[in-house]
Amino acid sequence: MIDLHLHSNASDGTDDPADVVRLAAAADVTTLALTDHDTTAGWAPATAAMAAVPASVRLVRGAEFSTTAPDGRGGHVSAHLLGYLFDPAHPAIVADQERLRGERSRRIGVMTERLRADGYDVDPAAIAARTGAPVGRPHLGRALVEIGAVDSVGAAFDSLLAKGGKYYEPKADTPIADAIAMIRAAGGVAVWAHPWARLRGDVIEPEVIADLAGRGLGGLEVDHRDHEPGDRERLRGIAAELGLVVTGSSDYHGANKTIPIAAETTAPDQLEALLARATGAGVVTGGQ
Ligand code: AMP
Ligand code: FE
Ligand code: FE
Ligand code: ZN
Repeated sequence: MIDLHLHSNASDGTDDPADVVRLAAAADVTTLALTDHDTTAGWAPATAAMAAVPASVRLVRGAEFSTTAPDGRGGHVSAHLLGYLFDPAHPAIVADQERLRGERSRRIGVMTERLRADGYDVDPAAIAARTGAPVGRPHLGRALVEIGAVDSVGAAFDSLLAKGGKYYEPKADTPIADAIAMIRAAGGVAVWAHPWARLRGDVIEPEVIADLAGRGLGGLEVDHRDHEPGDRERLRGIAAELGLVVTGSSDYHGANKTIPIAAETTAPDQLEALLARATGAGVVTGGQ
């Protein structure tokens, strides 16, 4: 089984990167990708943990970039872009991820203050100290669970943290074409994560995918929990037409989401097509 989108507590998952590796191997995953938001901080501990898993397991190191995409109707939407096997020291990537993490802190700080002003006693220092990791709404959601304001992180997303709600503050994400260009310049492969996750907000028109395919987009994450069956089939057709790799992944976040590792998977030939396009970081094999 191949699962190409997992989060650790280097961003907004709840497991240590080493535990993500161990849990994936225990779940019979043969290739896993660590794709934390806007950071490569989990790469080193995940790589070290590979020594203790069987040689049949492979680790693809990546990240999920916070971007903004034209929606094809004159506006913009938030878009998550998976970058795989890029050189983590590439200056443009280092600078972009640093900027995005700063923007995340600013934004969560604003949301925290708004909540506190209304009597939700979440501790800003506790959230900031959490890891030094890029902070996101799931961190704030856990803090709200801890003070008993909501029952679960999911419930926090449905109420206090909802996009467009009283406490929501947007963040300034990177134009998706720029993110694709830097991932490619760093030898990586760019795959659009859950492009038609309609529950999260408006999504893009198919023409936008075609335009970005012409600018170096390498693949589409088609099989994802947030995609309906009809949309998956349409996306598969679009990918075939444009020569894009098709992936499927759990988007595992540990206890911050209910989805288990390998709930959605990628076909072996698609993984090989993806690996063939990468020249940045290497794949890590178990037992080494
Ligand atoms: P943010 O990037 O801070 O706006 O928060 C979005 C993050 O929260 C993404 O990584 C999602 O995976 C996660 N997320 C989105 N919806 C939910 C939900 N209902 N429950 C838990 N996590 C969610
Ligand atoms: Fe996340
Ligand atoms: Fe995402
Ligand atoms: Zn994700």
